[in-house]
Amino acid sequence: MRNLAAGNWKMNGLVADLAQVQALAKAHPAPDCDVLLCPPATLISRMADAVAGSAVMLGGQDCHANASGAHTGDISAQMLKDAGASHVILGHSERRADHGESDAIVLAKTQAALFAGLVAIVCVGETEAQRDAGQTLDVIGAQLAGSLLAQLDCAPNDLVIAYEPVWAIGTGRTPTLEEVGAVHRFMRATLLDRFGAAAREMRLLYGGSVKPANATEIFAVPEVNGALVGGASLKADDFGPIVAAL
Ligand code: PGA
Repeated sequence: MRNLAAGNWKMNGLVADLAQVQALAKAHPAPDCDVLLCPPATLISRMADAVAGSAVMLGGQDCHANASGAHTGDISAQMLKDAGASHVILGHSERRADHGESDAIVLAKTQAALFAGLVAIVCVGETEAQRDAGQTLDVIGAQLAGSLLAQLDCAPNDLVIAYEPVWAIGTGRTPTLEEVGAVHRFMRATLLDRFGAAAREMRLLYGGSVKPANATEIFAVPEVNGALVGGASLKADDFGPIVAAL
């Protein structure tokens, strides 16, 4: 299984920033891991042109559960694919918090993404209060149970889980390596239980304040198969070393 370095640009990025992506693609022509950038939807097709012929793949940051229709402002999985995306991030904690996305909504979006032929990156993670209350594994277990299909009706590589503790996102704080390992072990066991041996092939990403300085040690944790990177994915000088560390 190839590791995955995924960058989540969130609500950042203008046409002028495509130069960063070109620099990244040029610096890593044949990376040892899969490299994915998820810019705002407005940039996907221009970024697709900018990275054409390189190893960099593109993804969306959300999609609607329906393929088309009267949903002003929304974007379907099919549209992301049409624009040049191969992946989509779903259920990011910022979407869960800002847009009230429940596990059931994330599940419906995941089905839509897979149906459209996209790789779905489903995010889970506990808040600081939940961690302090000792509920981390319960929360992750419930999110996995509610946000994923009952059966794996896609290739195991087409479903990626990102563990992103909410309190670690954009804060510069990360769980200890033992804590990351414990959650990833738990997720692997849960997925094996649910989907059988195929779940060994599913990639489990860690996300939350991944930087060049901590990437190597986080990637060495067993059952960590890559990273979902926010702030440090915006600049080639930051994301490049993270790609190289995988
Ligand atoms: P961060 O964000 O790397 O800026 O902490 C991670 C994410 O939200 O995916």
